[in-house]
Amino acid sequence: MTTAELLNSLGLASSSLTGGNLAVHSPLDGAVIACVHEHTVPEVQAAIGRAHGAFTQWRQVPAPRRGELIRLLGDELRANKELLGRLVSIEAGKILAEGTGEVQEMIDICDFAVGLSRQLYGLTIASERPGHRMMETWQPLGVVGVISAFNFPVAVWSWNTALAIVCGDAVVWKPSEKTPLTAMACQALFERAMKKFGDAPAGLSELLIGAREVGEALVDDRRVALVSATGSTRMGRQIGPRVAERFGRSLLELGGNNAIIVAPSADLGMAVRGILFGAIGTAGQRCTSTRRLIAHSGIADELVARLKKAYASAQVGNPLEAHTLVGPLIDKAAFDGMQAALAKARQEGGKVFGGERMLAKEYPDAYYVAPAIVEMPAQTDVVCHETFAPILYVMRYESFHDAVAMQNNVPQGLSSAVFTTDLREAEWFLSAAGSDCGIANVNIGTSGAEIGGAFGGEKETGGGRESGSDAWKVYMRRATNTINYSRELPLAQGIKFGDDA
Ligand code: NAD
Repeated sequence: MTTAELLNSLGLASSSLTGGNLAVHSPLDGAVIACVHEHTVPEVQAAIGRAHGAFTQWRQVPAPRRGELIRLLGDELRANKELLGRLVSIEAGKILAEGTGEVQEMIDICDFAVGLSRQLYGLTIASERPGHRMMETWQPLGVVGVISAFNFPVAVWSWNTALAIVCGDAVVWKPSEKTPLTAMACQALFERAMKKFGDAPAGLSELLIGAREVGEALVDDRRVALVSATGSTRMGRQIGPRVAERFGRSLLELGGNNAIIVAPSADLGMAVRGILFGAIGTAGQRCTSTRRLIAHSGIADELVARLKKAYASAQVGNPLEAHTLVGPLIDKAAFDGMQAALAKARQEGGKVFGGERMLAKEYPDAYYVAPAIVEMPAQTDVVCHETFAPILYVMRYESFHDAVAMQNNVPQGLSSAVFTTDLREAEWFLSAAGSDCGIANVNIGTSGAEIGGAFGGEKETGGGRESGSDAWKVYMRRATNTINYSRELPLAQGIKFGDDA
């Protein structure tokens, strides 16, 4: 099936794929696969207006009925899992298993949200006043603006959208300018679900194609109650204050610099597999990719030797081919960033294994690389930055508490893991004095989270949480309600105020 046929099967009309001013390149070979229309600022404002209108109607639809729309979206995703997964591979460069895995994650969050649509529970709270009842209710919030990164081109939208829709909100999505086609396919599937649903208001889900300027118009619009932004820390630093300036709400999912600690008691076979998937999966382009390995000096040599062997046998190549484990980097800028980081690491005393460009003859306009392992004398400056490429820095430790301190001593706080069979170490790692990250794992790696838990991280990762657990609360307005069913008007705290009047 050609890419054009694939796009047509996913509901994209050929006319929407040509003649636009935004050229879409596939990282597989650098070829232009479409030229799509980029939205203008007035078009952004009109889309937000439509979404706001839809919100005023949708908020009145009972939540379990709203869940029905997400059930239908889940059905569309199930029926199109292979096609959409393949498009993710072509547009973002992931291997097929990860492309379809990303769509499975969308299906999972739809299932979760359908259940949630009957569980948007509030509280009943004891009132201090006689004849009074106090409660907490959760109400729809408004328009949710979603800004997403290239590396999870469809899952991040679904994490936000499935929850926002059951919570009674409307969604306006600005995907990465590097991955508009997967976004257009998602929008087409959502529209099919809307049609089957019947009476959902038009404008409930809007899609905006474009780069930073389009995102800024979304960020600055007061009608957007929540801006959920996934991307680099640089982007979050720009968006956060802008949303705060107008007292909007933001949910930031930013960069990570995730470490695995490997203790002397660890099952090294398991550790190697966990590190391998975390460090080279998605060509090191996950927010949760393993970027630092902190190994006990007693096992570090053996661990690094086993990792080098595993790296050497991991196939780098076209992600659509069956045995490939590592696809391309997204573009030349990513490749240049990786080479610059490796050069800096060398200057800072690092010993580099791998990291060179591969398959340049076969794919002169694409950027395939050998994943790199860099043994560092210490956690130097370069190690403290997120380079969005497959570089694994290796440091050694003697005392477990020093290892945890090293793991925490970076600006980011997304994901972390320890491989140990020592109960005391595992519990310490998960304790108040342990990992300071939003995700802390024992005997599994840093990446590949399930949708059931809240996802996100601390410090420069932005503090936001989305997906499972009670992350839905950020998509709703909390109201505290007090009802007086007595014939008196007692004031709280026993205050007497003009009682003789
Ligand atoms: P990026 O920051 O370059 O772009 C992300 C999105 O933000 C894009 O849609 C872009 O157009 C938009 N954008 C950029 N500047 C903006 C601005 N000033 N105003 C409005 N919109 C703006 O990130 P990327 O290269 O696409 O993705 C990689 C980064 O994303 C990495 O740092 C990675 O760790 C992070 N990421 C984080 C998570 C998470 O959940 N924490 C998940 C995926 C990716």
